[in-house]
Formats: sequence, structure tokens, C-alpha cells
Amino acid sequence: MIKTDSCLQCVRCARTYDIGELRYTCDCGGILDVKRDLSRIDGIRLKALWEERWGMKRGIEASGVWRYRELILDAPDDKIVTRQEGNTRLYPAGSAGVWAGLSRLYFKHEGENPTGSFKDRGMTCGASAARLFNAKTVACASTGNTSASMASYAAVSGMKSVIFIPEGKIAYGKLAQALAYGGKTLQIEGNFDDAMTLVQEVCRELGIYLLNSINPFRIEGQKAIAFETLQQLDWQVPDWFVIPGGNLGNSSALGKALLELHELGILSRIPKIAVIQAAGANPLYTMWTQHTPFKAVKKPETIATAIKIGNPVSWEKSLRAVTWSKGTVEQVTEQEIMDAKAKLDAAGIGAEPASCCSLAGAKKLADKGVIASGETVIGILTGNILKDPDAVIGYHKDTLGSHGIKGTFANKPVQIPPTLDAVKKALGVS
Ligand SMILES: *Cc1c(COP(=O)(O)O)cnc(C)c1O
Ligand SMILES: [Zn+2]
Repeated sequence: MIKTDSCLQCVRCARTYDIGELRYTCDCGGILDVKRDLSRIDGIRLKALWEERWGMKRGIEASGVWRYRELILDAPDDKIVTRQEGNTRLYPAGSAGVWAGLSRLYFKHEGENPTGSFKDRGMTCGASAARLFNAKTVACASTGNTSASMASYAAVSGMKSVIFIPEGKIAYGKLAQALAYGGKTLQIEGNFDDAMTLVQEVCRELGIYLLNSINPFRIEGQKAIAFETLQQLDWQVPDWFVIPGGNLGNSSALGKALLELHELGILSRIPKIAVIQAAGANPLYTMWTQHTPFKAVKKPETIATAIKIGNPVSWEKSLRAVTWSKGTVEQVTEQEIMDAKAKLDAAGIGAEPASCCSLAGAKKLADKGVIASGETVIGILTGNILKDPDAVIGYHKDTLGSHGIKGTFANKPVQIPPTLDAVKKALGVS
């Protein structure tokens, strides 16, 4: 057995708390990390163990998160809530790579998780932690995917779930899932940031377990994206990871995972992390480029609803990840997001709008010469193409004018009478 001694540690003041203490923040207001004593772990043995588990047909370690359980959560099997998440594909970018000007661009498709987003990786760990704390009810504020995931994991493990979503503007596929899996769904008159504030108060007052990414165990599960990608690359270190940034939990997890692998001697160096924000919801980008203190964006706006967040809870951890990795933060416009999406979709891969910040950002950084054309780049695709059909149809029918978006690469549907002649005309053949 590999021993996993851990505690909770504040990212702001470094104060530590017992791992078994139910808390999400430090007394100073900082958020918490799960801190492990990695000096007791033999990296070579650990890597060999993970290789042995690769391709397991059943059991907890067949999950693409619990395969790496030594660095995920120290929990007995009967407390683990898993839907065999992870095990997602790593695709060559194909024509999308040509468009971006990158010859070694790959996409890790987290939209292939059980509920269609990377949130399942954090949720399997968070839901298992909830069971360790004997929670009966779990809650989250969500732009959609967290709620879809939480409702599913609560349902499979017999917990109740309460979801706080911002009014309007949550993608249809996500709302549908939350309702379908049986989550009690409360629509808040306000935006995501308002919902986030409220859910923390509700959890504190009503003794409900909070499953937003402020929960340090969510971040631990999300680290598995990095572990699995590196394993798919036979532990050859890529030059870059490019990842969308909303509440900034995922980029935080990526950075923590890569740092841990490096500390264990499993990686020879740390790849650079580029966090990509929408220009209308860009507090990390502003901090990074202007060297200013963190300042929330009051009215975040973007068609990529999954990252429409002005006051991200994990900005300190995300900034740390970018700094550790000597990476960067970039922003992309609405038009850049949706044009990148059209190219990613047309390459046959496809993902929801927020995910396409990875391609839009990779292209922008390649155009600027920050990423060299021959570097190995891993773009994280965070959510499934079917999550937000409205955005897809809007783009291809060129009806997103109110968002200031043109259907540059639109593939318009054509209406014709049911005759051979009309088909010939439409196809341009005689
Ligand atoms: C949650 C989510 C994001 C943003 O991830 P953060 O951890 O909040 O930065 C991006 N894309 C999709 C599809 C998501 O569901
Ligand atoms: Zn503190």
C-alpha cells in the first residue's frame, strides 16, 4: 500500500487543518489545498502501478480517476461513488491543427465523460468525500455542467442534490440533465457569482455538503485529466496545456497535478499552462497582463456560458499554476470562440463553446509566436458538443448578431422541394 498522509492547507497563509475537518476555506478567507507528503511515495513504483491498471475491465480502478487513487483521495472502496469516469480520448487535431498553425496539436476530450463534461472527474471525488462526511444532501451553484454532474453522482449514491443556477442563459442540454437526474433546481434571480455566494451561505446554515470547486476534493479528482493525458503520451512531457478558465478550478487542478508528478520524479519538467478566458469574463487575464491585484468582473458576458464567471473562487490557485509552469493567460473574443468552435466541429471532433477557447487560444498564441508551430500542445476540451445546441444552430444559421457574432464559417441548412432537380441544384451537379 502506498501511504497518503494528507492535510488541508490554506493557499493564502499556509495554515493547515486536519483532512477530516469539514471546511472549505481558511479562517483568513483563503481557499484550501489537499496537501500530501509526497516524500513517502516512490514515484517509479507508483507509475508502474498505474501502468498495471491501464485497461482494467472492471472495478474501481477501471475509472480514469481512481486508477490514480493514491493521489486522488484516501477512501475505502465502499465510500467511492464512481461512474467509471475518465478514460477519455486524446485526438490529433486534424484540420483544426492546420487552421491553428500547430503541427502537434492534440485534444483531450473531457466531453466524453459520463455526463458530458470534465466535471465528472472532480465530482466522483467530491461525492466520495461527501459520503466520507456522511452527507445526505449536496449542493452547488452552477453554470450548468457542475449541476448535471452532481445530480447524476448524487442519484447513483442515494444523496439528495440542490442546484443553484443563474437565471436564463444556462445551456439547454445542461438544464435538461439536472432536471432529469432529479436535482432540486433553484433558479436564482442573479448571475453565477450571486448563486455562488448564496450556496455557500445555504450550505453553512443548513448543513449541506458543498460540491463547487471551492471544495478541495473536487480539485483532487480533476487532477486525473493531467495524469491520464500524460499516461496516454507514455509520460513524454508536452510543451503546453491550453485550457479554458471560468471559475478556474480546472486550471488549478492541472497545475497541481503536474507539480505533483514533477515532485515525484515522474515528469522531467513541467509543461507550460495557458489559461484562456473569454474577453467578457477575464479577471485572471487582466491581473496577469496588467500586474494588478485581483478584481472581479461585475457583469460577465459571453456566449460560452460555462465560463461566464466574473468572480472565480480559485483565482489564487490558478495563478499559482500559471506561475509554476511559466505559462501564460490569454483572452479570446466571442467571434474567436465561435469561429474556433466551427473549425473544431468541422474537424469532426466537436465540443461546446467554452471548450473551444482551447483552440481559439492556441491559435492566438501561435499567431503571436508565444507557442512555436512545432511544439506539442494539448488542448483540453471541457464539454460535449451536444450540451449547447442553441449556440451551434445560431452560428450556422447566422442568427447570433445580438452577441456580435457572425457565422464566418456557417454551414447553413438548405430548404428545398422534394425533387431530384432541386437536390441537383442544391449540390451544384447537373
Ligand atoms: C466548468 C467548465 C469550464 C470552466 O472550468 P473552471 O474550472 O470553472 O475554470 C469550462 N468549460 C466547461 C464546458 C465547463 O463545464
Ligand atoms: Zn489562511
